[in-house]
Amino acid sequence: MEKKIPYKIYLEEHEIPNKWYNVRADMTTKPAHLLNPISLKPLTAEELEPIFCKELIAQELDDDTRYVDIPEDVLKFYKMYRPSPLVRAYFLEKALDTPAKIYYKFEGNNTSGSHKLNSAIAQAYYAKKQGLKGVTTETGAGQWGTALSMACSYFGLDCQVFMVKCSYEQKPFRREVMRTYGAKVTPSPSNTTAIGRKILSEYPDTTGSLGCAISEAVEAAISQPGYRYELGSVLNQVLLHQTIIGLETQVALRKYHIKPDIIIGCAGGGSNLGGLASPFIGEMLRGEADYQVIAVEPASCPSFTRGRFAYDFCDTGMICPLAKMYTLGSQFIPSANHAGGLRFHGMSTIMSQLYHDGFFEARAVEQNSVFEAATLFARVEGTLPAPESSHAIRVAIDEALKCKESGEAKTIVFGLTGTGYFDLKAYEQYNDGKMQDVIPTDEQIASSLAKLPKI
Ligand SMILES: *Cc1c(COP(=O)(O)O)cnc(C)c1O
Repeated sequence: MEKKIPYKIYLEEHEIPNKWYNVRADMTTKPAHLLNPISLKPLTAEELEPIFCKELIAQELDDDTRYVDIPEDVLKFYKMYRPSPLVRAYFLEKALDTPAKIYYKFEGNNTSGSHKLNSAIAQAYYAKKQGLKGVTTETGAGQWGTALSMACSYFGLDCQVFMVKCSYEQKPFRREVMRTYGAKVTPSPSNTTAIGRKILSEYPDTTGSLGCAISEAVEAAISQPGYRYELGSVLNQVLLHQTIIGLETQVALRKYHIKPDIIIGCAGGGSNLGGLASPFIGEMLRGEADYQVIAVEPASCPSFTRGRFAYDFCDTGMICPLAKMYTLGSQFIPSANHAGGLRFHGMSTIMSQLYHDGFFEARAVEQNSVFEAATLFARVEGTLPAPESSHAIRVAIDEALKCKESGEAKTIVFGLTGTGYFDLKAYEQYNDGKMQDVIPTDEQIASSLAKLPKI
């Protein structure tokens, strides 16, 4: 008889994995390396040192080490909010009247409200270990900035966050959480950097963009002794740290002899998707198991499903390294109507290569259908999901409904990356019936792709 599955599968503290998993070690085609934007040659560790911490650069460039020890101090911090529960969505299954078995790995149980803390604490640790004074970063809606502020306050590091000006003004709540943790939050563009002053003189009324905030944060890191820049998604090192999600999920599933059929994650820069799915994809790469893995992205920012696999800039300002990834072009900006997050034009190089090699599929979903799924989930499962996470909920529901048609009892696991308490403006739009689905036209995407660097 099947062992009774509890609503929440918690692990004991000692069952938390003490190593991260580096999927690159198992990939036959390795992800392409970052290129210097000027020489177009692969970036060396020395070139990256003024920007990033040494140990993080080593992780960024390491294609070979399969398991990386999680430092003791990081594990200690993880224990404050991990293991995160793997929840059996009994109520959602009942509401859908599906034979499918649905599980979600919930990463929203910490003050920052998302999975981003998993990498923030690791990045702050390596900065501290290197003897740095502080770090700089950018944040859009604020999840990453909040996570990094918490991590820096734990290690006694100074944290300078450039927050996209319109978010700084319209979303004061995460800003205040950051300040409570001691971070210095500057609306971007600002007059504290040369690039900020230049942008302000050209566009005095601009409300900022993520690309511009990145440029300011990088400049601030380079120009202050003892500071480095840290980034919350896209990079190989971030994906590595996020594998704690998938590794814990594997331990929990094995405990109850559960084998998933389908694994689903939302995709912005690819870090939670890779964090959840790459340990499973590793089994596929080694020929040990087979899974259907699905990445879910917004139809208004469809990097995997409509982008091109090419070298591109990671930032709008075109000063950052070039990465080979599925991209819509660094000048692509999703419609202002888009409220569901996941707005980055590109994608993790690791996940891009794995997608290119056929290890998973991708789907683009429209935001009204995402908020419909979010609302059902909130009502039956009790947790108000982040709009980003709700992309994964949408496809989990779609797959469960397919099971209802076919009568198959598939096991579905999806990543619930965070909570939606600070995204109530988006919920308001949906509840007022004012949310629009704006999908870029082929012409818009083509014109943005035409500006890709010629390599
Ligand atoms: C940042 C964020 C994402 C998207 O980032 P990835 O790097 O694609 O994981 C998804 N969900 C939440 C709650 C986030 O804060």
